[in-house]
Amino acid sequence: MGSHGPMGLGGGPMRAVWEQRRSLGYIEGGQRPSRETARRLLAVLRPHAPRLIGAMALTVLIVLVGLVPPLLMRAVIDTAIGQHRPQILVYLAGGLVVFPAVAALASVAQNYLNAVVSQGVIHDLRTAMYEHGQRLGIDFFTRTPGGEIHSRLVNDLNAVQQVLRTTMTGLFVNALTIALTLTTMFVLNWQLAAISVLILPAFALPVLSFGRRTYDAITRTQESLSRMTAHLEETLTLSGIVVVKSFGTRQREADHFKRLSQEVSTAQVQQSMVGQWLTLVVSALSAIGPALLYGYGGYLVITGSVQLGTVVAFSTYLVQLYNPASSLAGSNTTLMGGLALFDRIFRFLDLPIDVPEPSEPAPLAAQPGVTPLALRYDHVRFSYRQGEEVLHGVSFEARAGQLTALVGPSGAGKSTILSLGARFYDPTSGDVLLDGVSLRSLRDETVRDLMSVVTQELFLFHTTLEENVRYGRPDASAQEVSDAVEAAQLGDLVSALPEGLATVVGERGYRLSGGEKQRVAIARAILRNPSVLLLDEATSSLDSHAERLIQQALQRLFHGRTVVAIAHRLSTVLAADQILVVDGGSIAERGRHAELLAQGGLYARLFHEQFDPGAGAEAAARPGAAQG
Ligand code: ATP
Repeated sequence: MGSHGPMGLGGGPMRAVWEQRRSLGYIEGGQRPSRETARRLLAVLRPHAPRLIGAMALTVLIVLVGLVPPLLMRAVIDTAIGQHRPQILVYLAGGLVVFPAVAALASVAQNYLNAVVSQGVIHDLRTAMYEHGQRLGIDFFTRTPGGEIHSRLVNDLNAVQQVLRTTMTGLFVNALTIALTLTTMFVLNWQLAAISVLILPAFALPVLSFGRRTYDAITRTQESLSRMTAHLEETLTLSGIVVVKSFGTRQREADHFKRLSQEVSTAQVQQSMVGQWLTLVVSALSAIGPALLYGYGGYLVITGSVQLGTVVAFSTYLVQLYNPASSLAGSNTTLMGGLALFDRIFRFLDLPIDVPEPSEPAPLAAQPGVTPLALRYDHVRFSYRQGEEVLHGVSFEARAGQLTALVGPSGAGKSTILSLGARFYDPTSGDVLLDGVSLRSLRDETVRDLMSVVTQELFLFHTTLEENVRYGRPDASAQEVSDAVEAAQLGDLVSALPEGLATVVGERGYRLSGGEKQRVAIARAILRNPSVLLLDEATSSLDSHAERLIQQALQRLFHGRTVVAIAHRLSTVLAADQILVVDGGSIAERGRHAELLAQGGLYARLFHEQFDPGAGAEAAARPGAAQG
């Protein structure tokens, strides 16, 4: 809510931007994959247990069916060929077709269930993150670039989805395949089995260190992606590109983007190389197995203690054994990567909500818009950062149905006072009370129903004018909408537009003029019909016709409501029932226009600067004059 008004120009917004840049790591990655993460992951999976169990059951079927073909091959060689029984060949050959076909069908079903479960988990996380994001305090959004939040919801979840798809049942399949294959091998021939598994433990060796490195690599990748997305959202969106173009910083931003993109590429190359080394080590190891099997197995066949079919069956089992073993070794790295991603997601979900809901909300029997309610500030102190107090005990009452105007030099704390009234933040000490009830003990919904905030930053959604006016009350009737539009002096504009209220206003309402946008915001607030209105008057200078329209619209908006307004208009200060002059985080003067002017203090000086250029020049020349 920083402003650039004649009565106060903010160093605020720019400072906020730099703080954002510096605090990119506000939700930075963690250091260690934790048991806690795994526990929470299980909790996330729990609602999907039935389908997950279905997928596991299919897995068991697939693995069991997979054990049969080598036995059939063994029978072909040892029984059908060895014992000259050609009549069974057709069954054995048939089996060699049927069993793999069954396994293939089962795996289609299993893939389906896997996809449903992993998408279900992603959906749950995505909506939980969105809803949590909505509840985070304004402070979080002023400190964190939009792209960072975007990246969590899109990039991290995308990566998680891949991990889930590959590991969820993958781990189980592989472990089960290894166990059952090993058992079958030992039952068939323990000596051959023993030789075959000799090198199996070696698979486990590289696993641990790779897992750790994957965790780090993935954390790095996602962090660099976040930074890149943040930059993208700041500089390649409407508001950003306008600044970039007008300051001719295209090249500088492109270079910066190139650096960030390079970081992403490097991190991703590193991440994929962790896997590559693993593959290399594992495939080198798995070449040793068949050599041992054929060497020792060949010897046993020659000496007659084992039949040829068994060795052939073993060679197939060996493949069935090493493949899952190497994937298992691989899935550890994927798993660690997954934990890194989940850590990032859970850290976001753990961000504290600055303005918590009361456990026992106080009832406030007021109907929105029907009765204006008093808003009282009681010794309110507030700091955005510890040790930097911005409001030093502000007390005043905005009486029901009255207009309270806040004026004062830039950075005095006017926007902060409004933000506390809207409960965007809670006071560090003291209280803000609506109709005598502390905002802290009211449900967020109640506060939003009774109060509306109109900020200087007039945000219009990329949709029709009507939808934009309706935003605060989607169920309003067409008549109510058109009344609000009339009251906000938008009637002429609407009839001049080719599609009237159905005209789509561009991103951020770009196609409307500043004055028109202000009136859309006023129409929105009139339709919303709040009991208390908190208004940061827009400061864009308008020609006298546009200014008159706004004033008329505001008059309608103020009527019958409690209004606290950061005033930038002469008409507003003149109409105010009380004017509060905010200076250095305290209320320096209070009263009506004529009284304050007569006092000849800060108000008189600010007033002359703004509305009386001759006197303003004099005032500016005086040392210690407030800047405006
Ligand atoms: P202006 O008229 O220029 O908007 P203001 O009177 O509304 O000024 P505030 O925006 O309330 O003043 O700011 C009061 C002080 O609090 C300033 O010093 C400002 O830098 C600081 N401030 C405002 N917002 C934040 C924030 N999100 N985090 C930290 N400090 C902040």
